[in-house]
Amino acid sequence: AEARRKIIAGNWKMNKTVPEALALVRELRGVVSALGDKVELVIAPPFVALHSVAQAIEDSNLKLAAQNCHWEVSGAFTGEVAAPMLKEVGCAYVIVGHSERRQFFGETDETVNKRSRAVLKAGMVPIICVGETLAEREGNQTLEVVERQVKGALAGFSAADVARFVLAYEPVWAIGTGRTATSAQAQEVHVAIRSQLARLYDGAAAGQVRIQYGGSVKPDNAAELLGQPDVDGALVGGASLKAGDFAAIVKAGV
Ligand code: PEP
Repeated sequence: AEARRKIIAGNWKMNKTVPEALALVRELRGVVSALGDKVELVIAPPFVALHSVAQAIEDSNLKLAAQNCHWEVSGAFTGEVAAPMLKEVGCAYVIVGHSERRQFFGETDETVNKRSRAVLKAGMVPIICVGETLAEREGNQTLEVVERQVKGALAGFSAADVARFVLAYEPVWAIGTGRTATSAQAQEVHVAIRSQLARLYDGAAAGQVRIQYGGSVKPDNAAELLGQPDVDGALVGGASLKAGDFAAIVKAGV
């Protein structure tokens, strides 16, 4: 009987110019305002839109996330963005270790850990993504892979830190493919992660951590996924780019 408030986050990926982002926010504000704070709502636009979007969601029930950050606070790291910069423009969360970053940009469990530390130190909360590839699932390695990613990401954090974190279980084969994990597959992995957290930290911390599911979440499958006892929200890619779809997913989680 834990009271974990569901958290639905929209990962816009590399989509939306600043004017397009503002137009989407305007629409979103309208369709989610009636939901109040029953569900925690987060949007993650591209870096260049964060500042404008932060202003556009003031006095709304939407919170802001970045899609990545560097682990150093400043310096000679051309092209990177530091966590304190994201905090300063109004981010509450940073997505860390998204599978696209692991696949295409060399992200490892170690760099996920370093980025997560930077996020926490800057006063934000990481949304840490984990998940197996199709080959790993077919090779019955799902739980082993996910547990290795969780352990690596969380190395060195205290139970109090971890209790505030958001984890996102995102099977790689379900991201952007239209193929969703069944609710039973999602629930199985979420339970495994929560048991692992109880072993690594304690039952209280494990009970507080919110674990989102991500991977082709759409209005028509959201209620089933979000109805699982250990699915505490969703990380939504494609469907978060349409205000109506995002709102429908959010309503499914209320
Ligand atoms: C994601 O980007 O985290 C994601 C789950 O994408 P999609 O919903 O498009 O599968």
